[in-house]
This record gives sequence, structure tokens and C-alpha cells, in this order.
Amino acid sequence: MGTNIYAEVYHEDATIREKALQTVMDDMESVNQLMSPYIASSELSTLNREAHKKPIVVSKELFDLLVLSVELSELSKGAFDITFASVGYLYNYREAQRPSQARINELLEAINYKLIVLNPDDTSVYFAHPDVKIDLGGIAKGYAVDKAVASLKALGIEHALVTAGGDTRLLGDKRGKPWIVGIRDPRNADKQAVVIPLEDTAMSTSGDYERYFEQDGQRYHHILSPKTGTSSYEVQSVSIIGPESVYNDALSTAVFVMGLEQGLGLINSLPAFDAIVMDNNRRMHYSKGLMQ
Ligand code: ADP
Ligand code: MG
Repeated sequence: MGTNIYAEVYHEDATIREKALQTVMDDMESVNQLMSPYIASSELSTLNREAHKKPIVVSKELFDLLVLSVELSELSKGAFDITFASVGYLYNYREAQRPSQARINELLEAINYKLIVLNPDDTSVYFAHPDVKIDLGGIAKGYAVDKAVASLKALGIEHALVTAGGDTRLLGDKRGKPWIVGIRDPRNADKQAVVIPLEDTAMSTSGDYERYFEQDGQRYHHILSPKTGTSSYEVQSVSIIGPESVYNDALSTAVFVMGLEQGLGLINSLPAFDAIVMDNNRRMHYSKGLMQ
């Protein structure tokens, strides 16, 4: 998935422990095969090639995640939008490549989740504009973590930690103690900005340091504002704490784009979620639930 996977599981039976770790890797790989934009045969790649010509039937699994993605676009007033990729596919952070402003202007109207036509009757997907592309990089890792945790539960595991990139979910506690989950210092890869004891919950972090290059003193990074098709510069890091990684993952990206005031406003309106935001002056801000 182009990211680090880390898992810890507790169980007295070594065979089950081994099976558990294998299951985690299998779940991650199955999501990758379905949703990777880098695998030509993935359903996601097929959609990006074909769905602007005619409705394409996809698996229920991908369809359901697309439905959720669109719901999260509505909830975040368009800050989270998987059609960011209509412009986003032209960025290559490793090669320090980005689209010209003229090209962005041409493609910008294709960034709009309302152009994704989802038909639940046959789980088909149609893009109502020739330039629409989608990418699930802001939600697929969280989804994969939840899928892996569901598999661990089915194996009878009660204490586990599963991480994919910035998305972590905890099953139970660490056998009598809480798990300790860190938020990286956005400007120092070796330092933690915060560590938090957590159990039976999940946390996702989005930052401007995961994938980026610098050019002319500007940081071009991988979280794009759907309004402009360029990197979002509102804050440096957003962590969301909530029960399921799939929501935390998308909401961390959404709050990153929405910025401090609007973003914390959204999280404060959702009782199941909390947020920790680091602003551009490296000050930490917390949602109401963390300050009680
Ligand atoms: P990561 O864990 O890879 O840092 P994030 O949760 O921070 O992921 O999400 C960043 C990824 O989300 C980007 O690499 C891109 O694939 C996708 N993305 C970027 N901007 C948006 C956006 N406005 N809406 C939805 N997804 C986005
Ligand atoms: Mg995210």
C-alpha cells in the first residue's frame, strides 16, 4: 500500500498469533489490490479509465466505501473529496512534479464529489464529467485497519494494535496498561510532538510531512484543497480520535483542509470524535472532549 504496516497481537496460542499477523497482512493486501491507483487491474484504476464513458459495476466492498466517501464529503462541506485526484494525479512528490496553474484551472471543475453517480441497484459507478478521477488515499488505510481488526476479533484476539501509516486502531488495552500512541513532530521525524495513552479506540494523523517536496521555498505536499487543487496550508498536523479508523482517516484529512476554526467546529459537533491540531505556529489545539 506504499506505507508501513505494524501490528501487535496478544494470544496465548502461538499458532493463532501467527495466523493473526498473516490475516492482517492479507487484509491490507486485499484492500491494496482493490483500491490502489498504481495497480492497473484494481477496480479503482478501472473506474478511472472507464467510468466517465459508462457506468461500471464494482464490488460491494468498493461501492460501500465510495458511498461513505461521498457522505464524508457532505459532512465536511467538500473538504474531503476523493475527486481531488482529478488534479491530484498530476502531482508526483517523489519526482518533485506538479501541474501548471493553467492545467489546474482546466481540471478544477472535475474536482466535485457530486460528479460521482452511485447506483446501489447494481453497485455501478459513473463519472458525470470526462476528467473525473478518484483516489482513496485519504480513507483506504483507515478502512484496511478496521478490516484487519475485524479479522483479529473473529480469531478471538482481544488485545491488539494495528497501524497502517498514520492510522492506528487498538483492540482492548495492552494487557492491563493502555497502549501509547504518538503524534509525530511535523518538523522532526525523530521526535514525538505528543504521546497519548489509548485503549479500545483509534487515532489517525494527517500531516504535511508524509509526502512532499520543496521548491522555491514552498512545501508542496499531498493533502490538497479541493477548491484550489493545490496543497492546503491551514495547519501542520491533525489527529482524530474516534472508534473507527475509516472515519478518523477521512476526518483527519478533512480537518486538515478545513483548518483550525472550521475543522475543530466540525469535530466539536460530532460526539464520538476528538481532535488534536497543530497550527502553523506549532501550537496545539484540542477539541472540547479532550479539555473536560
Ligand atoms: P497519509 O496517512 O497517507 O498521510 P492522510 O490521511 O493524511 O494520509 O491523507 C492524505 C491522502 O489523502 C493523500 O495522499 C491523498 O491520497 C488523499 N487526499 C489528499 N487531499 C484530499 C482531499 N481533499 N480529500 C480526500 N482525499 C485527499
Ligand atoms: Mg486521512
